[in-house]
Amino acid sequence: MRLDKFLSNAGMGSRKDVTKIIKEKRVTINEQIETVGKTYVSDDDIIKLDDRVVSLEKHVYIMLNKPKRVITATKDDKHQTVMDLIQHPQKEMLFPLGRLDRNTTGLLIITNDGQLGHQLLSPKKKVDKTYVVTLKKAITDEAIKQLETGVELSDFTTQPASVKVLRDDCIELTITEGKFHQVKRMMHAVENQVEELHRKSFGRLVLDPNLNFSESRKLTDDEIKLLF
Ligand code: URA
Repeated sequence: MRLDKFLSNAGMGSRKDVTKIIKEKRVTINEQIETVGKTYVSDDDIIKLDDRVVSLEKHVYIMLNKPKRVITATKDDKHQTVMDLIQHPQKEMLFPLGRLDRNTTGLLIITNDGQLGHQLLSPKKKVDKTYVVTLKKAITDEAIKQLETGVELSDFTTQPASVKVLRDDCIELTITEGKFHQVKRMMHAVENQVEELHRKSFGRLVLDPNLNFSESRKLTDDEIKLLF
């Protein structure tokens, strides 16, 4: 990575700021002053600014309370994406873990940890995802039974889900898979329809109730442990 990009990603300022800092001879690579921002640095190099070692945060874990009308993608020419809601110096290396539909709200993890992503999203891992599902009409006992047994969708039969009735037209649904439009398709299969969908937890990690829609924060060390 280029030295200027490295410094900027490490939170030392914008590209313009770090170019100035480099020109002011305040930066060393392995104890040698470096004045050229486009010089490449490797993982083994020791970079210092004003005699203090600068390093990149190895792993970044952010929780976002996704609002409606925002898409889960890293880039989009037409729509606002979840990445537009995040502030982080290493933002260009971050990505959302899994996806929520445009009008689904709630917990989304944003990270640069590809290995964790791979593990948590693997169907073999059977990570619980809990959604609050507001329905078009009251849920029936028969529908609950079907959801708890497994419903047949066009391409697969769902694993048994767990259902907690919050109101006659609102349930908390926990599923272990994460197929395309899964909750909507499950509700359709039991002759109902999703009006609102909100994810409140992913594995053992629960959305911070103090985060308003569009707000995000880094996970605490204890929360990070819950992901592994
Ligand atoms: N299931 C859906 O149908 N949509 C989501 O956004 C998440 C789960």
